[in-house]
Amino acid sequence: MARIPIEDALEYYSIPHWGNGYFGVNTDGELTVRPTRDSAREVSLPSLVREVRARGLETPLIFRFPQILEAKVDELAGAFKNAIEEFNFKGAEYRPIFPIKVNQQRDVVEALLAAGRKHGLGIEAGSRAEFMAALSLDLPPGALTVVNGYKDLETVRLAIAGARMGRRVILVMEKLFETDLVLRAFSDAGPGPLPEVGFRVRLFARGAGRWHKSTGVTAKFGLSTASLLDGINRMKEAGYLEQVSMVHFHIGSQIPEIRRIKGAIKEAARVYAKLRRRGVPLTVINVGGGLAVDYDGSKTASDASCNYSVNEYANDVTYTIGEVCQEEKVPMPLMVSESGRFLTATHSLLVANVLGRISADPPPSNGFNEESAPRPVKEMKAMLRDLSAKNYVEYYHDAVELRDEALTLFNVGLISLEDRALAEGLFWEIGRKAISFSRREKLPNEEFDELERQLHEKYVVNFSVFQSTPDHWALEQLFPIVPITRLREAPTNAAALVDITCDSDGEIDHFVDIKDVKETLALHEFNPDSPEPYDLAICLLGAYQDVMGDMHNLFGAPDEVTVTVAEDGRPQIVRVERGDTVAGVLRVFGYHQEEMTRTIRERLQRKVAEGVLGEKESNVLLDGFCGLFTRATYLSLVDSNVPVKK
Ligand code: PLP
Repeated sequence: MARIPIEDALEYYSIPHWGNGYFGVNTDGELTVRPTRDSAREVSLPSLVREVRARGLETPLIFRFPQILEAKVDELAGAFKNAIEEFNFKGAEYRPIFPIKVNQQRDVVEALLAAGRKHGLGIEAGSRAEFMAALSLDLPPGALTVVNGYKDLETVRLAIAGARMGRRVILVMEKLFETDLVLRAFSDAGPGPLPEVGFRVRLFARGAGRWHKSTGVTAKFGLSTASLLDGINRMKEAGYLEQVSMVHFHIGSQIPEIRRIKGAIKEAARVYAKLRRRGVPLTVINVGGGLAVDYDGSKTASDASCNYSVNEYANDVTYTIGEVCQEEKVPMPLMVSESGRFLTATHSLLVANVLGRISADPPPSNGFNEESAPRPVKEMKAMLRDLSAKNYVEYYHDAVELRDEALTLFNVGLISLEDRALAEGLFWEIGRKAISFSRREKLPNEEFDELERQLHEKYVVNFSVFQSTPDHWALEQLFPIVPITRLREAPTNAAALVDITCDSDGEIDHFVDIKDVKETLALHEFNPDSPEPYDLAICLLGAYQDVMGDMHNLFGAPDEVTVTVAEDGRPQIVRVERGDTVAGVLRVFGYHQEEMTRTIRERLQRKVAEGVLGEKESNVLLDGFCGLFTRATYLSLVDSNVPVKK
């Protein structure tokens, strides 16, 4: 088979556009990862998969590349460093903050914090548990620990404990009543260090994209101008104004348009400056999250993309804040952003194997008999032969009726299963032919769009949409998906993907494209007998997916492999973490291994006593049952293509 140029392979899947230098294709047509964007440190994903399969692990597998976390935090901090140098505002400084809700996996957070140490990376928590995790992690001196979300007295006391441990904690007031909790806890605490206090402002400027509801004057979070002034007054009257240090806003995640970000920053900077001029000792502007990831590589203001780069973002934040501060003659604050998605999305991906294909079957080749075929089948057969550019719409409508007629005849027992198979197959063939005529029209008939969707092939993939790509299910978020091998073969099939859950929502039917959103993915012919599995990588999964995933159908977390790549390009598997076992997911829902084993053993023993089973067979069945407790929750390739003994 003729090999296609690497450039074509890259373009089929828009890899250079969303890959941002972290992904590539090698001369063998394999998907590669470059964790530092340096082409010398390039690792072939299939070679990693082969290696871990040899160690006994099975797909689906999550791959994590901690060096990507380091590269991303360097990218972000570097962009701000350049912006600060370029605009040269006196006293300008920037520090990144990692909002832990984006990915709470301890290894991910620790890798990120270690990489971000040199940039003073801080952490943001949105709940009591997250805050406790944040306090237990190691931060460089002076790095911020920001506490967002609704708070109770215990949270405020925990923040005081944090401050007394030497952490720079900032409690963000999301609601006015929280100020009273803070004042009560502060006055109870007695002398000693106290946390700082920030105010989240509800901006008039609105975000855009899927999370635009996070902002605007009726948003769930933040204080109105009146409440902000009230809160600050309460702090002042109680003698704690000195603790007020930060103005914060967050206009939603994945903001696709830079103009929305600029608008919000302008407004927040003005709030900072006006308060500062009234003597509120603010030193920090926290611009929240929202820095978007270009999932489809289109560089547009579509939901899966963004029309700006990290450099433009840093320039706009720095310049806008600096300009307002100059105008208002107030000192430049420390700028911080909580850019979780940007920092983590790229570092992880899922590799999952294709298990099979679902397609609308053609009519059985030898099933048609002119003499005995029922009338609807005969008519569809003739129709298929005579279908043309002139009559295809009319014939297709007739075919719908004939198919329904055939099904009615089947339901009342007048035609056989074989004839039903013929009617179904002929109908799909007529549909396929009609679509091909419709496509040639200047204005293709919309009626055929839905039919085309029904006729798309589907590849069955060994994963759960609900566990591994929950945002695709919940929000139709797009993730780039690429076969990890055979990339120098031209893909011949266009297919959607279905997962192995028993749920029709467990499907991926929207795919990235730089011009549009595609309904199918270009894939290679799948051969179930091939000794090489056909594996797909679902990329850019590092933000939000780990934590939002659920156990629908009791499919749990897949196994994980953490990989680094040395300067000479040699990959090293630094950690393997087993995912959920069957016993583990069952336990979560109250099924305990010991009890289940006891029940099954008793049931089998009863059958032995009744003489239905032999002792030996009963033991084999029990071992088979118990052996599955320690297995992963997904389908296994092991022994799956051994021929069945008759
Ligand atoms: N900060 C706050 C307050 C948030 O609610 C969020 C997420 O929505 C973030 C930061 C992280 O946003 P992103 O992942 O877009 O950077």
